[in-house]
Amino acid sequence: MLLGGDNFVMKGGDMVSGRSGAMLSYVVNVSLRRLELVLGDITEQAVDVIVNAANRRLAGGGGVDGAIHRCGGAAIMKETREKYPDGCKTGSAVASNAGNLKAKYVFHAVGPNWYYEPDRFDLLGLAYGSCLKLAVNLGCRSVVFPSISTGSYGYPIAESSVVAIKTVGDFLKSVDGVNSSLEFVRFCLFSESDFAVYRESVDNYCKDN
Ligand code: ADP
Repeated sequence: MLLGGDNFVMKGGDMVSGRSGAMLSYVVNVSLRRLELVLGDITEQAVDVIVNAANRRLAGGGGVDGAIHRCGGAAIMKETREKYPDGCKTGSAVASNAGNLKAKYVFHAVGPNWYYEPDRFDLLGLAYGSCLKLAVNLGCRSVVFPSISTGSYGYPIAESSVVAIKTVGDFLKSVDGVNSSLEFVRFCLFSESDFAVYRESVDNYCKDN
């Protein structure tokens, strides 16, 4: 099966370097659409939607949230303050402009804190799923996620990646045959070890489905 990504063409099951030589990528087809992994900084991604791992107050913070606001500029926070003064519930997501980022939207998704939320498993799936529904409703072609909740919110990455990949994979299958603009969903992982964990979850998902 020949699979294609943005910057490369590869065989499924192989991990390859993209043209830059520095960018690791991994791609599988799920029904008619692609599920992709890349290693890198999410603020450099050129896609329709960049997902932010936000907090409930949409107040900005460290980690990926800080990087997105820093690189995207003040227009993002201006819009979220105006449109969502009450913030966003855990397990949900809201859309804003993407400021200076190479995207149409930033979706601010609130994942569960591993230490404080007993329903963390369901809430993590809901956070990913909310973004996917929003993307389809807004007619988006491409979405890139960070690994939600696995930084300061403490969700172990091996467990969270299973939820993330299953939620996205099942969603891609569910929109199969639906007249949706969605072409691919990508995870942008920030370290080689995170990338390897996600890759294993993708392989396991493909084996089971
Ligand atoms: P959370 O509070 O949801 O845990 P964090 O931002 O602390 O969010 O971490 C979520 C994940 O995002 C972590 O795996 C972290 O390594 C990763 N991350 C941090 N900065 C970036 C970035 N610029 N691009 C992609 N991933 C990032």
